[in-house]
Amino acid sequence: MHYDVLITGAGPAGCIACRLLSEAGFKVLLLEKEKIPRDKCCAGFLSPQAIELIEENFTTIPPETISHPRDALGAKLIAGNGSTFQLPFSRPGLSVSRARLDAFLADESGGELRDGCRVLDLEVERFLVRGELKTEAGSETVEATYLIGCDGGESLALQSLRPEFFRTYAAPHLGRVSLVLAEGSIEWEPGWIGLVFNKRGRGMHRFYIKDGLIALAVMHGNSGTWRGEFDSLVAFLEETFGLKLEGESLAGTSAINLMGATGKFNLGAGSALLAGEATGLLDPWGFGIRLALESGRIAAQSLIDSAGQSITPHLHYSSRMQGLLNREIEQKRKFGGMIGDLDTSSLVRDSSRVGRRNRRELKHAFF
Ligand SMILES: Cc1cc2nc3c(=O)[nH]c(=O)nc-3n(C[C@H](O)[C@H](O)[C@H](O)COP(=O)(O)OP(=O)(O)OC[C@H]3O[C@@H](n4cnc5c(N)ncnc54)[C@H](O)[C@@H]3O)c2cc1C
Repeated sequence: MHYDVLITGAGPAGCIACRLLSEAGFKVLLLEKEKIPRDKCCAGFLSPQAIELIEENFTTIPPETISHPRDALGAKLIAGNGSTFQLPFSRPGLSVSRARLDAFLADESGGELRDGCRVLDLEVERFLVRGELKTEAGSETVEATYLIGCDGGESLALQSLRPEFFRTYAAPHLGRVSLVLAEGSIEWEPGWIGLVFNKRGRGMHRFYIKDGLIALAVMHGNSGTWRGEFDSLVAFLEETFGLKLEGESLAGTSAINLMGATGKFNLGAGSALLAGEATGLLDPWGFGIRLALESGRIAAQSLIDSAGQSITPHLHYSSRMQGLLNREIEQKRKFGGMIGDLDTSSLVRDSSRVGRRNRRELKHAFF
């Protein structure tokens, strides 16, 4: 079976690309290794910009995807000495269940969706992509003219297209996040994500309250040892916000790709594009849904505009993405103003509260 476009990964980037291409008349195959609805280690805070992209390109976000409390206000950055800086969205966003949101996006994607179907291998030539797939029923090979790799932080598409780049820039910046859910109590205003540096000071743990549970997203290295980081986060939150946990359970672990934080992105090559976290798109606070939607949309439009011409879509895509990438890189240079979708001016306004060590920590971690 030959398709016009193969899309790997049915997250926000893959679903928006699939929807726009299908609407434009392309024959699209959207492949997802998990069964949908699939869980994703994610706080599910949608910025106003992410909501706009979904509602412009899909339909209104259905009420059953929305969590309690519904308003997502932004993030609070907590320095080592307990000082807290509010980094609000420009207006309240929405708190959603990622499993339900992504199931809605996949449902509305308009292409042929195969879930429970892992891409094992990709071969890419000019205007020919061959994918080897594994499903419960066995293995199969599919072909397409174009590829859009939207397969997240540990992207097979990036590894296949640019193995050298993957080894040099992506692999050293791959981390793991383990999500622990628990009942209990904490002196914390729901609607905000708390960001706390991990022990090594090169990444952040997150915590938030959602649907009556306390969620702790613990960032750790690739070795899978999340317990040490978890224990130190819990000790910090007990002391700072009176955290009391009951019956915690590990909800899942996923890869996180921080290569974009070092200014390294990869948009693919020729007739094979990358979008979303596979590209390295994640803002310094770890928000990536808006960037996934935006890059997935631009990838689809670049492909639509180049089809029928003898040029590859990568030419259109790289020039159209330049503005977005420059904005990402430029924003990391400054300390106040909007960084990603969050307003960071409180970091400047309250700079008297940022000790020299904390300031060094912040700069080291983000900029
Ligand atoms: C703890 C945590 C909290 C976060 N909180 C937020 C937040 O509140 N707000 C926000 O905006 N961002 C948040 N993010 C970031 C956000 O989750 C990602 O940036 C976003 O999901 C990226 O979307 P994507 O479409 O690029 O990839 P993903 O959503 O990761 O989707 C990729 C898909 O590809 C599939 N896949 C992978 N490999 C294969 C394969 N070989 N074959 C087939 N399918 C494959 C995966 O199963 C997955 O479904 C958070 C991240 C973490 C780790």
